[in-house]
Amino acid sequence: MTEENLLDSHHVKMVTVYASSSAALKPIYYDAARRTGEVLAMGGKSIIYGAGGGGLMGSMADGALSKNGKVYGVVPEFLQDLELTHRGLTGLKIVREMRIRKQLMLEDSHAVVTLPGGSGTYEELFEALTMKRLGQWVGPIILVNTAGFYDGLLQFLRHSIDERFMGRGHLKMWTVVDEPEQILEAIENSHAWDSDALQFANVTAANA
Ligand code: AMP
Repeated sequence: MTEENLLDSHHVKMVTVYASSSAALKPIYYDAARRTGEVLAMGGKSIIYGAGGGGLMGSMADGALSKNGKVYGVVPEFLQDLELTHRGLTGLKIVREMRIRKQLMLEDSHAVVTLPGGSGTYEELFEALTMKRLGQWVGPIILVNTAGFYDGLLQFLRHSIDERFMGRGHLKMWTVVDEPEQILEAIENSHAWDSDALQFANVTAANA
């Protein structure tokens, strides 16, 4: 590990988790989600997430709570009414709408962990990636590639770089792990990033 890459893992206290709300997945996904919660809690990380009680969100939260982790949820009113919200969280914040929720989930967080998911998860992941690209939020972004779920997306991101819609330097914005047990090390080894990212946010002939 080079000095440049060294990120003080103790500095990472609050981790945002993005994850699927689906209740119809193969067991392997729920297992990885539960282990993600366990690993983060045992690593002393607090978690903030979408407050879901089911899907990979629920498994992740249950895993963390089973290891005495602190898990905070942010949920918009309309989802709260559907009673999809986890009832055993350390803290729950109810907000007016999805946009505010997304902002709150990221602004106080030091790192993002993304489990497999659908459109909601992609939106959250891409917001974090874009904020990082612009140097507005600079923490590690870890993708948990359970059963190769994200292979297609990763290939598309590489294609975006090959076609110069993004720069080579942007490849360092995210780290991929196959198993939840690799998350803490990935956070620690994450490439340092700061607000200077704005200097190379736009692709030019010089940084393509
Ligand atoms: P998706 O991957 O499309 O299932 O969306 C999951 C992501 O969107 C989560 O990370 C949540 O922040 C948000 N989300 C979508 N549906 C729900 C739900 N029913 N309860 C809580 N959060 C949800």
